[in-house]
Amino acid sequence: MSNEKTFKALVVEETNDGEFKKSIHERKVSDLPENDLLIEVHYSSLNYKDAMSATGNKRITRNYPHTPGIDAAGVVVSDKSGTFSAGQEVLVFGYDLGMDTAGGLGQIISIPADWAIECPKSLTLKEAMIYGTGGLTAALSVQKLEKMGAKPEDGPVAVTGATGGVGSISIAILSQLGYEVIAFSGKPEQSDYLKNLGASEVRHRDTINEIGSKPIGRELWANAIDTLGGDYLANLLKQTKAGGAVTSCGLAGGAEFSMTVMPFITRAVSLLGVDSVLIPLEDKKAIWQRVSTDMKLPDLEGYAEEITLEQTPEYLDRFISSKVVGRYVVNVR
Ligand code: NDP
Repeated sequence: MSNEKTFKALVVEETNDGEFKKSIHERKVSDLPENDLLIEVHYSSLNYKDAMSATGNKRITRNYPHTPGIDAAGVVVSDKSGTFSAGQEVLVFGYDLGMDTAGGLGQIISIPADWAIECPKSLTLKEAMIYGTGGLTAALSVQKLEKMGAKPEDGPVAVTGATGGVGSISIAILSQLGYEVIAFSGKPEQSDYLKNLGASEVRHRDTINEIGSKPIGRELWANAIDTLGGDYLANLLKQTKAGGAVTSCGLAGGAEFSMTVMPFITRAVSLLGVDSVLIPLEDKKAIWQRVSTDMKLPDLEGYAEEITLEQTPEYLDRFISSKVVGRYVVNVR
């Protein structure tokens, strides 16, 4: 492909007065970093982290102008490393994609070959992006609980940030695997949506914090998947049954939390970190194997809204104001 070839991409620019402006631009292949693997992107997806990058969060993206998009699914144009052949369908999640490397919200990306995996045969490129990083993180969270011995008969699993990307797919996967799920949401009006995903009960997220500053409380759930952090995470741990575990992947509700060690030393409750970004490629391949087999959700199209590249500026803003529900798959073509 010629270096002069142009393609469309979302570009975030920092203005002189410190604002961040999002618009669709024509870019050239020569604008991309020089790497082995060139991919024509067909689908991407939106995640909370893309919204942070698109609004100038310098912990995510240091240099602007920038094209966000931590997820990409597409077709190999060329690969100087010899790992992939032209025309092969591949997926990219995490590492530096969409952070300081131009991301999947552009029609072409240039990345190191060891960031990509082959798209599993049982998934289309679009289906893979319906999961995207949000779905992958949900699957990794469920897998972490399983590794600690979680079983459906242990009792309900609490899921926070329930209407979000990670939360909604977590509910669906847990329900498919036979778990009872208590969904915690700040959007009570989405109760029917959450029950359709598989939640047996929907509670307001503020009820988690009713325990206040008590060091430990009644045992209300066997395990939990937390996407919020902050007091929500502390108070989930305090109300988890003896021997249970809580996964932590996100900070939509705050990065810091304060609690005593009581749930750990009197109930042997475990706190499990989940990272989908920098884990080894082999672990990404392994979780995709499960996502495309026993964790594969029926009627995947129902879990995401498809949007165009042109709609991404508006939708990214909705993430920041918490006006999102479920997953958003971007048709980049
Ligand atoms: P979304 O924006 O899709 O969902 C987040 C949900 O959290 C919202 O839908 C809302 O759910 C709730 N929420 C939002 N703002 C607040 C707030 N201020 N206080 C309390 N609840 C809030 O995000 P994702 O699902 O994509 O990501 C969730 C978190 O996980 C993020 O922090 C993200 O950065 C992190 N993440 C981490 C990964 C990792 O590898 N560790 C990978 C992917 C995501 P509701 O209204 O239903 O309560």
